[in-house]
Amino acid sequence: SNGAETREFQAEARQLLQLMVHSIYSNKDVFLRELVSNASDALDKLRLESMVDKDLDVDTSDLHVEIEVDRENRTLTVRDNGIGMSRDDVVALIGTIAKSGTAELLRKLKESQDANASQELIGQFGVGFYATFMVADRVELLTRRAGQTGGTRWESTGEGTYTVEAVDDAPQGTSVTVHLKPEDSEDNLFDYTAEWKIREIVKRYSDFIAWPIRMTVQRPGEEEGTTTTEVQTLNSMKALWARPRNEVDEAEYKEFYKHLSHDWVDPLEIIHMRGEGTFEYEALLFVPSHAPYDLFMREGKRGVQLYVKRVFIMDDCEALMPDYLRFVKGVVDAHDLSLNISREILQQDRQIRVVRRRLVKKVLATVRTMQTEQPERYRTFWTEFGRAVKEGLIDDTENRDTLLEITSLASTHHETELTTLAGYVERMKDGQSDIYYLTGESRAMIENSPHMEAFRAKGYEVLILTDPVDEVWVERVGEFDGRPLRSIAKGQVDLDTEEERKSAEPEREQQRKDFAPLLTWLGEQLTDEVREVRLSSRLTTSPACIVGDAHDLTPTLEKMYRAMGQ
Ligand code: ADP
Ligand code: MG
Repeated sequence: SNGAETREFQAEARQLLQLMVHSIYSNKDVFLRELVSNASDALDKLRLESMVDKDLDVDTSDLHVEIEVDRENRTLTVRDNGIGMSRDDVVALIGTIAKSGTAELLRKLKESQDANASQELIGQFGVGFYATFMVADRVELLTRRAGQTGGTRWESTGEGTYTVEAVDDAPQGTSVTVHLKPEDSEDNLFDYTAEWKIREIVKRYSDFIAWPIRMTVQRPGEEEGTTTTEVQTLNSMKALWARPRNEVDEAEYKEFYKHLSHDWVDPLEIIHMRGEGTFEYEALLFVPSHAPYDLFMREGKRGVQLYVKRVFIMDDCEALMPDYLRFVKGVVDAHDLSLNISREILQQDRQIRVVRRRLVKKVLATVRTMQTEQPERYRTFWTEFGRAVKEGLIDDTENRDTLLEITSLASTHHETELTTLAGYVERMKDGQSDIYYLTGESRAMIENSPHMEAFRAKGYEVLILTDPVDEVWVERVGEFDGRPLRSIAKGQVDLDTEEERKSAEPEREQQRKDFAPLLTWLGEQLTDEVREVRLSSRLTTSPACIVGDAHDLTPTLEKMYRAMGQ
């Protein structure tokens, strides 16, 4: 070997490792799932690369994962003959955490005193390779990148530093050896060298991995007291999405979802569909039961993976799901695409667009059904994802009607419960033609707004819109069911009936005379600030309020644009 170099983990990686070493994660079995999943990814990558790059001279005839245990030395090794890593890869991928949101995750973990919440956060984030340090006091990794000659050896105890060194004789691919903590250590409940335990974990988490996961097992020999060894494949390797729906049970779907999403919690909805005809595909989609921590982060992960005939092509396939449904997880296996299709080409592909349209319609229809048949579940959905879904109202005009149906909003009708737009319309007063809303930063601010006074006095319901996106969609959508959406902060809103107006007219005339000097004086004083000072009937207790023109930006929108630097 050519001299080991000791390096420090990046600060964030170190903090995450600390959490692993002191294992706040209670389900330690997942370390094996993570290693197998990385091995499987590495095999996917090698297969794809060898198909795309004809010059890559590697043997791909027996791609597999191998698990080996050494009971005496208490080690467990997961080996693959996949893509492998260069030395730079190892340093960049294992020594740092490139994932966006790590800092955010760590901050939230620190804040959260609740163990369950911490588990959930970590589960959503997916700790990956570092999960090995929950069960190991030392981890070794030996790897060689396909197509390169030299290999790399990496080792760490998870305590802040690691070593890397070049080695000449590494087999292509990666092997990770976990030196298990002593058996008597307090948090080491299971013996991860036991065959049954490994079998159980693989079956539970990795059964559908498309590559064989092999293990050499001991079998009683022909003669008393002797043993023979035998190589067994532990997983069934069936791609779940390719199986007919009636042959997959609920538990298998859920496990697959957890494998795919690194989530701990069961999904809210499972959608398994198949497209036949000129463009065949299978899709297995999941609506999670909680929002990911990065739902509103620009670099946040999106959910759908693309496969072509069982070959993994890419994660985060934005061409298959619009941004506002970015929380939907799953797999789409399209049969008639080229393996080296790029993201750019996918965006243009006519057939992919057709698939995407069908997926979107199906997801929205599922939510719609949930809304009518399982209101409790729908409420969870809307609480978790409503803010993202409302983004769809802005530019998915094709599905606008369905989106408007599944939208729930706060309103003066009820203090805590949300209403649909249809619900609002049903409660509209005789002669009311518009749907009234007010946008603002919080419910309290909106309720205390002077604009609200006349509406409250007259008993008109007003929608309370507090998400920044609300400003944008109400403008864009304009109406629901033929009724204009109208901000009560803009223009002249006349709530009086013809009769009320007539009987109040003499008094108003008198007021106009009495207040004329004051209005003129105010107008002069505020000449740079306001366009006009007028007497209003909208207020009941506040002396004055500022009203925008019907086409002005609302204060919140003004603030939003200003924040965006416009
Ligand atoms: P994730 O799998 O979510 O990216 P991990 O912590 O599990 O995060 O792994 C980090 C990275 O290390 C992987 O993205 C991959 O690039 C690399 N890696 C891990 N294990 C292997 C492996 N067996 N073969 C090749 N690369 C690997
Ligand atoms: Mg991983």
